[in-house]
Amino acid sequence: QVVNYAPFTLLPSAVPRALFEQAYAVQQDFNLLVDAISQNKEFLEQTLASTIKVDDFTARLFQIYTQVLEEGLAQTVFLGINRSDYMFDCGLDGTAALRQIEINTIAASFGGLTSRTAQVHGLVLKVLGKTEEASQLLPNNPAEGLASGIAKAWELYGSPRAVVMFLVEEVQRNIFDQRCVENELWNRNIRVLRKRFRDVFEQGSLDASRRLYMDGQEVAVVYYREGYVPQNYDQQNWEARLLLERSRAVKCPDIATQLAGTKKVQQELSRPGTLEKLLPGLPQAVARIRATFAGLYSLDEGEEGDRIAATAIADPDRFVLKPQREGGGNNLYGEELRQVLEKIKDSPERTSYILMDKIKPQPALNYLLRAHSPLQVSECISELGIFGVYVRQGQELVLNRAAGHLLRTKAVEHADGGVAAGVAVLDTPYLL
Ligand code: ADP
Ligand code: MG
Repeated sequence: QVVNYAPFTLLPSAVPRALFEQAYAVQQDFNLLVDAISQNKEFLEQTLASTIKVDDFTARLFQIYTQVLEEGLAQTVFLGINRSDYMFDCGLDGTAALRQIEINTIAASFGGLTSRTAQVHGLVLKVLGKTEEASQLLPNNPAEGLASGIAKAWELYGSPRAVVMFLVEEVQRNIFDQRCVENELWNRNIRVLRKRFRDVFEQGSLDASRRLYMDGQEVAVVYYREGYVPQNYDQQNWEARLLLERSRAVKCPDIATQLAGTKKVQQELSRPGTLEKLLPGLPQAVARIRATFAGLYSLDEGEEGDRIAATAIADPDRFVLKPQREGGGNNLYGEELRQVLEKIKDSPERTSYILMDKIKPQPALNYLLRAHSPLQVSECISELGIFGVYVRQGQELVLNRAAGHLLRTKAVEHADGGVAAGVAVLDTPYLL
């Protein structure tokens, strides 16, 4: 096995304070929204109807969703851990605006490692003689925040001997990030297991009231750090996923909440009137959420889709073309976007994508430190993520909070890709 340090910027990056505060202020609203979508069968059905005809992976998830609902939910406690990601769009007059890139409702990562980055950058600034600046860096501990949600869900599940199960990858690539959250749970005297889908297939079982057991140990909470891309699944793993979803255990996220995080759902949320329907009686929350939206467009078959496809082919640099995938490196830009759209514009395959306005942040110089890479100054742009945590018992929301932030920075020549994809690095916001 090989251990490397996680990549990070040498220096913190400047972030406009007002936009940082705006992102924190809207997080509880986004938690409410995701939770509302996850309980709205009609909305999920209508929104994903066209997508599941052409996208096998979403269709498979949707099939489990339907099956679990038909049987009736055994789960009564719900735990959401999400991360809403933003960039700072630079307007023609030079002012920056907060624009949501996406919301991650499954396996949102780096809350653990980034609980340490502010200390690293504080040290760097002190070494540079910038003691005053070092003292300005905000403390940030998403690991504690995420663990507080998991602990709350575990407690409400109500079996003191039951454990929390981290569902992890076949090949461990980000184990230390997960350990930070895990250790917070051990500190609260909550036992944690790390298991893969294949372990669940081999050792998992449900009792008559659909309590989940792994080798005889009851599982209260399943925290997925896996299961968000098609490559995570073979036939056995799909069966294991179904077993988990049918169980009484608190899934973070349950299958409905995973579907609420699809790009197609994100695009439909931007239609006039949709947020109002999903969050009735909450006009201020709706306004705060909508203020973060970039232009999003459906490529469903029909006149609306034809028109926006033609616009994007004529002016590809204005847009990003996104399939229903997670994990970075899947989106299409520029000439490639034009070619692909040209090819699929008259086929139903078009429906598996959405189009989004391309966000254009103001670049800044920084050094990206990555194991075995040469050290050079780069023109960089940053993406701010806010972690959200909520717990619902039946219809009652018992916890709803923002749980810290993540700043990731990458060189401008990479259009796409996160930290796990080897493109972005961990950073700390320096508020201006
Ligand atoms: P994924 O689920 O793969 O993380 P994202 O929507 O977050 O998908 O896109 C991946 C990356 O692509 C982002 O981290 C960002 O760097 C870039 N990106 C996505 N949408 C836009 C956009 N509208 N404008 C500019 N860059 C974008
Ligand atoms: Mg992303």
